[in-house]
Amino acid sequence: MNIRLYNARILSMKEGQDIFAGEIWVKNDRILYIGDGSDTDQIYQKSPNTCIVWDREIDCKGNLLMPGFKNAHTHSGMTLMRSYADDQPLADWLNQMIFPVEAKMNGEDIYHLSKLAILEYLTSGITAVFDMYLTPESIADAFDDMGMRCVQVGGVNDFSQSPELVEEMYLKLNKKYPLQSYVLGFHAEYTCQKGLLEQIAAFSHKYKAPVFTHLAETESEVAGCVERYGMTPVAFLDSIGMFDYGGGGYHCVHVTEEDIEIMKKRGMFAVTNPSSNLKLASGVAPVSNFLENGVKVAIGTDGPASNNCLDMFREMFLVTGLAKVKQKDAQAVDAFEVLKMATVNGALAMGLKEADILAQGKLADLIMIDLNQPNMQPIHNIPKNIVYSGSKQNVIMTMVNGKILYENGTFYVSDSPENIYRKAEQIKQRIIK
Ligand SMILES: [Zn+2]
Repeated sequence: MNIRLYNARILSMKEGQDIFAGEIWVKNDRILYIGDGSDTDQIYQKSPNTCIVWDREIDCKGNLLMPGFKNAHTHSGMTLMRSYADDQPLADWLNQMIFPVEAKMNGEDIYHLSKLAILEYLTSGITAVFDMYLTPESIADAFDDMGMRCVQVGGVNDFSQSPELVEEMYLKLNKKYPLQSYVLGFHAEYTCQKGLLEQIAAFSHKYKAPVFTHLAETESEVAGCVERYGMTPVAFLDSIGMFDYGGGGYHCVHVTEEDIEIMKKRGMFAVTNPSSNLKLASGVAPVSNFLENGVKVAIGTDGPASNNCLDMFREMFLVTGLAKVKQKDAQAVDAFEVLKMATVNGALAMGLKEADILAQGKLADLIMIDLNQPNMQPIHNIPKNIVYSGSKQNVIMTMVNGKILYENGTFYVSDSPENIYRKAEQIKQRIIK
């Protein structure tokens, strides 16, 4: 498909580039041209025989094109447990409500439940997710069938999956599907015995690859690790070589100054999940401290059982709002910094170096934000409008890999919403009743 998006405002997220009026040309999966439209001759000069026949030319009517959001931590298949287990402490929530349901879920269930999550991602302008869940192959099938980009991360622990499966999926899923990839990882320190963790660290050394995991989410998790190993989770995992090739942690709420030093030294990402941390009363991540110490921060929704929605706008507002309250400083973590976390940093954490910004040759993973709605007017400062007053209702187009998957409230994917909702309801009836 060749798509020309003209009469747009463009927020490329390229370092030092301000919002400008212009157009974007998409050829197949890539951005062929981005600019103010005055220099499109260069495309033809570079390849004189080029003749572009547009499949679509879209008048953006002054609305904003920007890189799609990267949801840097989620568990898509947990849509089954949305609003099923709420208002409980994390340990009870996980052990008494979530794990028993998960024990009854199969790969086919997770295939359909992931599709439900994908619909929600698209409405929120999310063009790629960093997903950790139970059945990697059926998850990859769901994302592949829907045309959605997904980076999976190993979620092994003592009672589900195995280190061997993590290695097998690492080798298989990075080859099999164009829009899918797989990163080494494990569920969390507190759900894995030391031997298992050492196996994951060994894979990281074998493949010179980063490792991601739930990290320092709760006070009790940190206390348990200190009791077991005499070190915080960050320090303990680092001591067994887990982060020698980088990686990162999801949540990173209860970290010490020494932990932040280690994260900086290892080039680790802190993926913050503010809604989940609030709802499960885990605490507020020290986002300002990460930034001051040069630790890159990305943003994730976490799963729909602990959030309960998959909405990057809500997360973005909470990231800055909570940082301001925690620091008692209204200047803390400004809106543009938050947008960078939600786009560029997320892409870098997920290994999507081709989908971080809008630039010639980059992947066409982009969204259109409707500025012609009451909550976006008048226009003083678009990044602040998006983070402080924006919502998913402003997302009027979501394009992944050069294909429009969602436009003006309609999904252009391989399955109908009605069918996906019906499947989710059937799974609920069978497993939960
Ligand atoms: Zn999680």
